[in-house]
Amino acid sequence: MSFITHLECSKCGRKFDAEKVQTVCTSCGKPLLARYDIEAAGETLDRGGIRGREATMWRYFELLPVKDRSSIVSLGEGWTPLTQAPRIGKMIGVPKLWIKDEGVIPTGSFKARGLSAAISKAKELGVRRVAMPSAGNAAGALAAYGARAGMEVYVLMPEDAPRVNIVESHIAGARVFLVKGLITDAGRLVSEKEAEAGWFNLSTLREPYRVEGKKTMGFEIAEQMGWSLPDIIVYPTGGGTGLIGMWKAFQELEDLGWIGDERPRMVSVQAEGCAPIYKAYMEGKQESEYWESAKTIAAGIRVPKALGDFLILRIVRESGGMVVTVSDEEIMESIGLIAKKEGIFPCPEGAATLAALRRLVDEGQVDGDERVVIFNTGSGLKYVDLFPVEAPIIDPKRDGLQIFSNPL
Ligand SMILES: *Cc1c(COP(=O)(O)O)cnc(C)c1O
Ligand SMILES: [Zn+2]
Repeated sequence: MSFITHLECSKCGRKFDAEKVQTVCTSCGKPLLARYDIEAAGETLDRGGIRGREATMWRYFELLPVKDRSSIVSLGEGWTPLTQAPRIGKMIGVPKLWIKDEGVIPTGSFKARGLSAAISKAKELGVRRVAMPSAGNAAGALAAYGARAGMEVYVLMPEDAPRVNIVESHIAGARVFLVKGLITDAGRLVSEKEAEAGWFNLSTLREPYRVEGKKTMGFEIAEQMGWSLPDIIVYPTGGGTGLIGMWKAFQELEDLGWIGDERPRMVSVQAEGCAPIYKAYMEGKQESEYWESAKTIAAGIRVPKALGDFLILRIVRESGGMVVTVSDEEIMESIGLIAKKEGIFPCPEGAATLAALRRLVDEGQVDGDERVVIFNTGSGLKYVDLFPVEAPIIDPKRDGLQIFSNPL
């Protein structure tokens, strides 16, 4: 069974019923977080008992919000590889380097975790019609999980969202709207229309359970490292659900007595062309301001204002981490490096974490024996339009095949 007890406002602490459809706190408008009876969970669960379970994020069912297993809407998401990256590690002077590779997940990005959790819970509560603003990957994941749950799905994306996200949503039967503007403009449209259209709005952190799906990344890292945590986690930050979720996961694991009170330094990575959290961090502020004319190839972190900004900033500071920005050029270079050195074709958001780590190493912020996990949050296969390729064209009837050497 699930040990969920209630929802609690992340700002003012007010409690809400988890067996009713909820959005944000009705007192202060901030995100709600799920709370569990961890003590009771600890009496029936132990670390060894998890070991042999199914290789999906639902192996942590007791600490997820769905009451009845039959409500689960799953495509096999989660339990992704924590892959060692020895060649890059050696090159940049961080020999203990791992890539948490979310590129192999259904729908090609880690948005699947959040939407598997959210759609499962929504289904359990009888929701039939869902809508969401998205920079791209969340739309594709919602379309897939919504289709599997038999729901009516509406997605609103910036008109310049990656084409694959538009196609994957359309093909899964979602009604797709393209908005002149950014994800925040799409978000405003959904909010304005939701009551009239009868939509349940699954916008990041306006809905309480996507973050529960993302928190399983924290459980997995702990389990995959033998119930210990790395010294540093580097994470590309848009809405921040992954960072907030993992931080929550570590607390729950500590409350279970499965890990101690040590925590990784949480490093939040943003793009130079859209860095509201970085700006607030540098200015010592608790909340971010709207970032004008946001621009980056890393579409998933092109979020000019995050509802959970105050949580991201609090976590980064509490953990002794920091916020780092990287340029699109550095991102492009890091994509090639990860693919050529480790055989993983990362998404730009994922590559941004390597670019950020390199900067930290240059600045002397990382010790050579620290254990570092960088996140590849999606597959590079979803972004092929970014890469021009020059390859000779050969007509076998006319041309011979000249072999050139391919130096590494
Ligand atoms: C959405 C997205 C992100 C940002 O994730 P948050 O947890 O919302 O900060 C990073 N990478 C990719 C590929 C994404 O789709
Ligand atoms: Zn509140």
